[in-house]
Amino acid sequence: MKEKLIDNYNRKIDYLRLSVTDRCNLRCTYCMPEGGIKLLDRRELLTYEEILRVVRILSELGIKKIRLTGGEPLLRDNILDLIEGIRNIPGIEDLSLTTNGTLLRKFLKDLYSAGIRRINISMDSLDPKKYREITRGGDLTKVLEAIESSVEMGFESVKINVVLTSLFDWKDSLEFIKFAIEKPVSIRFIEMMSISDLDTVECSSNLINIDKPKVDIRSIFESMNKFGKYCKIKEPLGFGPAVYYRINGSKGKIGFIINKRESCYYCNRIRLTSKGSIKLCLFSSLEIDIKKELRGGTDNERIKKLIKSFIKRKPKDRNSNIKCKVGSDLKIASFMNKIGG
Ligand code: SAM
Ligand code: SF4
Repeated sequence: MKEKLIDNYNRKIDYLRLSVTDRCNLRCTYCMPEGGIKLLDRRELLTYEEILRVVRILSELGIKKIRLTGGEPLLRDNILDLIEGIRNIPGIEDLSLTTNGTLLRKFLKDLYSAGIRRINISMDSLDPKKYREITRGGDLTKVLEAIESSVEMGFESVKINVVLTSLFDWKDSLEFIKFAIEKPVSIRFIEMMSISDLDTVECSSNLINIDKPKVDIRSIFESMNKFGKYCKIKEPLGFGPAVYYRINGSKGKIGFIINKRESCYYCNRIRLTSKGSIKLCLFSSLEIDIKKELRGGTDNERIKKLIKSFIKRKPKDRNSNIKCKVGSDLKIASFMNKIGG
């Protein structure tokens, strides 16, 4: 009989965020410092064989849904081979991808053939200049073309992640709402998060400031009124904390991901980082070095046991973990590209 991963707060863990690389072709201001980060030596990245072994073990423990992320997952060589490998693992019911979209268009056909049906694309502004500034050099046209092609190709779900940066203003919010009215995609407004991961990054030297956006996520919600009546979508549209709405007559949906501890009470996910550690929470520096076990000859049954007991340490919520405070401001002290957002 299949086992289950249940934590100490009775949360069933069945969702894995799998970071396949720490490399990225963009340098989003809230995710990576301008000069980049010290990249892992390629030998430190889990190989595909190792990733598939961990996924097999996790699927026997009840993991059913996997989202590939990074860094930029499409930068990893032969990513389609990994996708096909994961698809063939019994028990994995859903495999999806989060990408910055800049390289996506040329991969779309193969991703579809390999069984990916749900794609999240990050695009923090519809203004090319602002987009370039936020991503430090990204070309918005490529992302828009990829979104268009994903919709045409019939992907079941195309979600656009919009992190609210300090450049985000009222006009941006209205443009994105119009985008969701006109296109069958879900726009997800995401409040920026602070992540502390002090075991791997020195708090004092690697800080990214989180400046507030010019418009608050709650006022974006209120502004939906301007476009007509809207209703909350009852059925879940994914496995995460977003709450979705549809404005009458719109083709797409609008979602909100608010950075609040209450979302943690239903958290069903763990992460496998590109360097081969399992993390229980984005906001916690707690991790278990699975690569060491894989490369050190530990057998699968022993690894399973380690994971099962580690799960019991999953923190109750994001506020249980915060350790890095500088003055009164909380800062990001790790990089999402390493952990996998
Ligand atoms: N490179 C891919 C991308 O940008 O979609 C995948 C990795 S990225 C780390 C995954 C998601 O995390 C993106 O949607 C990104 O906007 C989000 N992200 C990164 N840092 C964040 C932060 N501090 N707060 C909220 N979201 C963040
Ligand atoms: Fe790269 Fe994604 Fe981080 Fe932007 S958010 S720097 S695209 S990993």
